[in-house]
Amino acid sequence: MDEQNLKKIILENSVKHKGKANIKFVFGNVIRDYPDYKKNIPELKKMLEPLVKEINNLSIEEQTTILKKLNPSFFEEKKKDIFDFLDIKEGTQVITAFPPSPEKHYHIGHAKAILLNYLLAKKYNGKFYLRFEDTNPKNVRPEYYKVMLDDIGWLGVSWDKVIYASDHIDLLYDYATTLVKKGQAYVCFCSPEQMSKNREHQQACDCRRASVEENLKNWFSFKEYDEGTATLRLKIDLKHKNTRMRDPAIFRIIEAEHPRHGYRHRAYPMYDFQNAILDGYFNITHRFRTQEFYMASELHHYIRKILKLYDTFTYEIARFNLKGMLSSGRLIREKINEGELLGWDDPSLPTLVALKRRGFSSEAIKQLVVESGISRSSGTSLTWDTLEKYNKRYLNDIAQRHFFIKEPIKIEVVDDPKKEYFLKKNPKKDLGTRNFKSTGEYYLEKEDVDSFVNGDLIRLMDNINIIKKEDKYVYSSCDYLDYKDYPGSKKIIHFLPADDNQLHKAKILTPDHKIIEGICEKQVSSLKVSDVIQFERFGFCRLDEIKDNVYSFWFTHK
Ligand SMILES: [Zn+2]
Repeated sequence: MDEQNLKKIILENSVKHKGKANIKFVFGNVIRDYPDYKKNIPELKKMLEPLVKEINNLSIEEQTTILKKLNPSFFEEKKKDIFDFLDIKEGTQVITAFPPSPEKHYHIGHAKAILLNYLLAKKYNGKFYLRFEDTNPKNVRPEYYKVMLDDIGWLGVSWDKVIYASDHIDLLYDYATTLVKKGQAYVCFCSPEQMSKNREHQQACDCRRASVEENLKNWFSFKEYDEGTATLRLKIDLKHKNTRMRDPAIFRIIEAEHPRHGYRHRAYPMYDFQNAILDGYFNITHRFRTQEFYMASELHHYIRKILKLYDTFTYEIARFNLKGMLSSGRLIREKINEGELLGWDDPSLPTLVALKRRGFSSEAIKQLVVESGISRSSGTSLTWDTLEKYNKRYLNDIAQRHFFIKEPIKIEVVDDPKKEYFLKKNPKKDLGTRNFKSTGEYYLEKEDVDSFVNGDLIRLMDNINIIKKEDKYVYSSCDYLDYKDYPGSKKIIHFLPADDNQLHKAKILTPDHKIIEGICEKQVSSLKVSDVIQFERFGFCRLDEIKDNVYSFWFTHK
């Protein structure tokens, strides 16, 4: 073995260990990489010792410079990416999509599929499409076209194209016609009950035996049938082990006005047919979607195959299990109608609009999605605690600190120096300061005041130390060290100057619909609606409204 290779191994060790290679470890590494040396340990030792000594005499900067030449890959970060398992080669054209159905607000559980599709496209400089699944006019609530774009946009996602499945019904109709002509689809006049019974018993109905000519004739008059009297079905296999493959319906009649197309259509494609074709038609290369599509995937691939369409790679991911969160759209709607919830953005809900209004950051949600990884089987349990942990991590360094006092009690401080004092807006990041001017009187929180006993040293945060003497509060000093070294019982609390000119009224709405009223420092007037701050010793809050000089916040979390 040449000296260069030995040097490389020593340098890797020394750079890892603050510039000092450990000969024992180096020995082990050499033997691991070059097992032949086992036969000649004394010789290896003789070679290594002077080299280790020589390298250990260099500064770590010099060692780094040499190692960078010998083995540049040592310094490359081997970051694991959640999409590595897809094994996509650099330069591959990636197009992903997410299909919102315009009928409700999304909740945090949907965020994963949206973000994964978006992030994958972004990673490969690809394209990300949104495709509204709006081919059942009865399920389309027109105002939700915009709502969903707002919800998805809030996640920090941008899209290259918005597609409406309903704009492609003629195309889908033509594909269906192709299948009828090829004898791969037939018009079925059975009732829905009969159809599901046949499916269960793996039995074909008489309609299945009709000739191609007969089917074509029926298909061309399909649009004249009444709703519920006929469907177009794929001819696959009624004994298929995947029930979704047992001659599924692909077109049906719906008599309803479509918000985009009025009464132009009567024959509407079923979800699976539309979804499978439009993925292929728009050359969607990858789709992440939640586990409930697992059975449908086989059908989707099959449809693309028989129509010779591009076959999208689909991957079904485990859903977030939302623990202790109300997420059913139907239930939410009910509770809104009954007045139990303020709306889709009620602070108790995990909907994206509610999270936004409470002050959750979409960046924190993105981190949560990425760090929870991609798994097919085991769903990640998502609780408020997890969500709050990620959000807090994000907010800690950027949120301004302010003081809020509920149930204020006025106290006077004997011998108060009545000085002006400055408090940092954030302990870590330089966001500037807030200043107060003391009048010798302060507002403290009732709960704090009730807890004081005679002889307590009370530090008004970043300001002064006072001592409780009987029913008086007496100034003691400003120095934090005096507080730190005080032998008796002590407490650091927040406070406000008892001076209306330096205060604002504030109220905070909590997720359980309570309103906490109090006062806060005047500096909140520098905030804009939507800013998220931290009220010290209370929690994070988002400024929701300023009305009649009252600052209304929504409680984010502790
Ligand atoms: Zn039938």
